[in-house]
Amino acid sequence: MPLMKSWVASANDANHPFPLNNLPYGVFSTEGTEERCGVAIGDMILDMAAAEETGLIKISEIPVFDAPYWNEFMDLGSDAWDELRARLIALLSDGSEARAAVEALLVPMADATLHMPLVVPEYTDFYAGRHHAVNVGSMFRDPANALPPNWLHIPIGYNGRASSVIVSGTDVRRPWGQLKGPNDDLPRWGKCARFDIELEMGAIVGTASDAPITVQEADDNIFGYVLLNDWSARDIQAWEYQPLGPFQAKATATTISPWIVTKAALEPFRTDTPEREFELLDHIKDCGPMLYDIDLEVTMAPAGKEPTTIARTNYNEMYYSAAQQLAHHTTAGSPMNVGDLLGSGTISGSEKENRGSLLELSWGGKEPMTLDTGEERSFIEDGDTLTLKGAAKGDGYTIGFGDCVGTVIAALDDPYAR
Ligand code: CA
Repeated sequence: MPLMKSWVASANDANHPFPLNNLPYGVFSTEGTEERCGVAIGDMILDMAAAEETGLIKISEIPVFDAPYWNEFMDLGSDAWDELRARLIALLSDGSEARAAVEALLVPMADATLHMPLVVPEYTDFYAGRHHAVNVGSMFRDPANALPPNWLHIPIGYNGRASSVIVSGTDVRRPWGQLKGPNDDLPRWGKCARFDIELEMGAIVGTASDAPITVQEADDNIFGYVLLNDWSARDIQAWEYQPLGPFQAKATATTISPWIVTKAALEPFRTDTPEREFELLDHIKDCGPMLYDIDLEVTMAPAGKEPTTIARTNYNEMYYSAAQQLAHHTTAGSPMNVGDLLGSGTISGSEKENRGSLLELSWGGKEPMTLDTGEERSFIEDGDTLTLKGAAKGDGYTIGFGDCVGTVIAALDDPYAR
């Protein structure tokens, strides 16, 4: 698909993350205004609350865009999703007769503060990147049996903490926890010394369900995608994770990018899941191309320093798609709600430079990295800023996600010291 031309000039740059083909959904405020829904177009944000108030956009009888979340709109269903996208394209296309009316409702992105774009009722994190699972299994368990026996048959996941999901730009405080290093006889209480990122994509459920659904239905129910950094305390994780999986190691924060990129915008980038070693059971069998060709990148910048790119990979490295994860999630009867967030699992590729966590990049601290600015890193130091970037490259245009950024700040004084 070629670039769709907009009268918003900045949106027509082949490298701009927010062309007319994208139209991602976020929540913003400007000085003195309430948080409201907005749509990114080039360097501008279309104020959706104002567009609804003036009657330029009318998707439902009751206003849905004057709220600080997109959940109410998502809940209107996929016909409304298609209707809004078509209306936005008509309003913002080159030659649109509504240009003057729409132009009055555009806010420069530079003047806006971005907020969480949705309310996340529940957050589930999967472990569905094969290279990551093999790497972690090799380090934490046994290189000969790196993949758990169930891994090639079901997307493994655990229920995370929705309350810890935060928007890009929010600082992340280093956690304390119970740790037991290889040289410790007994566990001890301490600051996390192996704080890490996980480069993931987050899928957002846009249609609720209350019974088992098929992979096709799950794909239909997904509203859109964000970049997701699942901050991980590896020293806490290594001690606590067996047999029920991570708990406090993943409870500090999960950062998402501020714009929800819709499934509609990603349609031209669909790719197949990989060859299957074992045929999948019917409830999670592929029903068409369900992954996306999205280039992903991680940068790391010590306080006051320029960032270094430490990893590049692609979302098409996943073994299971978000639709398969969502279908599997419903099999035992769990209802899914509008706004539920599914983390893909860390997305690593086959080579060292494709690894989506510091744990893998530094091989558990045995092979520290040297940043372009000279610092050596195995894990995150206080003041480091980690940024995830994502882009799908079309014919003369880019579908960007908006950066997913977090700076790690020093731990609190020991909260249990008396
Ligand atoms: Ca994760």
